[in-house]
Amino acid sequence: MGASFDTIVIGLGGVGSAAAYALASQNVRTLGIDRFNPPHARGSSHGETRIIRKAYFEHPSYVPLLLRAYELWQQIECVAEQKLFHRTGLLEIGPSDGIVVPGVLSSAALHGLDIETMSMSEARRRFPGIDGDASWRVLLERDAGYLNVEECVATYLKHARLKGAELKTDELVVDWQSRHGTVVVRTDKTVYHARSLVVAAGPWASETLSRYQLPLRVVRKHLYWYQGRTPGYRQDQGFPCYFYETPHGYFYGFPELDRSGAKVARHSGGDVAQGPVDGLHPADADDRNLVEIFLKQNMPDMILECCQTRGCYYTMTPDENFIVDCLPDAPNVTVIAGLSGHGFKFTSVLGEIAALLSTGYHPPCSIDFLSLRRFEPSP
Ligand SMILES: Cc1cc2nc3c(=O)[nH]c(=O)nc-3n(C[C@H](O)[C@H](O)[C@H](O)COP(=O)(O)OP(=O)(O)OC[C@H]3O[C@@H](n4cnc5c(N)ncnc54)[C@H](O)[C@@H]3O)c2cc1C
Repeated sequence: MGASFDTIVIGLGGVGSAAAYALASQNVRTLGIDRFNPPHARGSSHGETRIIRKAYFEHPSYVPLLLRAYELWQQIECVAEQKLFHRTGLLEIGPSDGIVVPGVLSSAALHGLDIETMSMSEARRRFPGIDGDASWRVLLERDAGYLNVEECVATYLKHARLKGAELKTDELVVDWQSRHGTVVVRTDKTVYHARSLVVAAGPWASETLSRYQLPLRVVRKHLYWYQGRTPGYRQDQGFPCYFYETPHGYFYGFPELDRSGAKVARHSGGDVAQGPVDGLHPADADDRNLVEIFLKQNMPDMILECCQTRGCYYTMTPDENFIVDCLPDAPNVTVIAGLSGHGFKFTSVLGEIAALLSTGYHPPCSIDFLSLRRFEPSP
């Protein structure tokens, strides 16, 4: 019989690293297992930066989770004495009768969040280098910005270890079972036992939870870096993150950072990954073309010579909301999956929720809208 723990976490990426930290911080005997050595570039938590924002256009029920996520990012920054969140502000730009602008405004109104609204011409004046259709509305959320994605994962893992978590890397979980309140996890090296399990397998969630047939779709996404012709796009010049709703889809980007340039990507679209998730991302000329058309129209001072590209996975649910729930036939197994391309900002609070659910407590805010039940056929 292999070693025994209170809780095992499968996957130590964005969610799993935060879950291992939250569990170990509560003196829970924690084992974390990852098939690679995170932070790595094979899953969904790599590529330098992730946008964080509060006035959630996707669904206002995410806002309470975000308020707690912000607190927890601040906490880990204090513990680690390391800056992970860069408060650059975020411009959200699009038609006033679209999805993003009305969604941001209604989330902000419901939760009393501070959003500044301006016309496209005022935005051009205040943020030289920004452009767009003259009829679009521009919203500025000041308490938004970006997280350094790999550093967040590395920091949570380091401090999970310091709090006593045992972390195994380059070890593949090949099977797990839960019977009579005990979980047995079999890897390519050994077998472990625990009272509870957290499955945070990112784009491998369908594989790890194959007997549950989760309605997940893994999509390949691409990131591109460019440089500005003028210093106007640089973070040290006060350039913010941005998110556009355009007739060709959603596009987002970051200020130009010293080390690498300005990252930009298309949030919508993407090819469904066929076969096993392999971490390889062949170039997608159509995607890059759409990104460069977007830049030409909306960031006219960007030099359209791509400096670097990276690939990454979105794991989509049918309604693009996360799955955060315990399994119906195994309440000691918590699943966090299907983060649908917008989950990183939440990983601090999802880690806390995973720790609470797997130790028999309730989360600090409602997660009913993220339950597995919503996919059950209605009677
Ligand atoms: C291009 C791109 C841009 C994004 N932009 C944003 C953004 O701006 N803001 C935002 O909030 N979110 C964003 N996201 C989404 C966010 O990054 C993801 O939702 C989040 O990182 C997912 O974390 P995860 O823990 O679910 O997956 P991962 O970080 O991929 O972790 C899963 C881990 O499980 C391990 N694993 C899987 N199977 C096994 C097994 N059988 N045995 C052992 N280990 C296993 C893997 O090795 C991996 O380390 C973006 C995503 C992408 C791809």
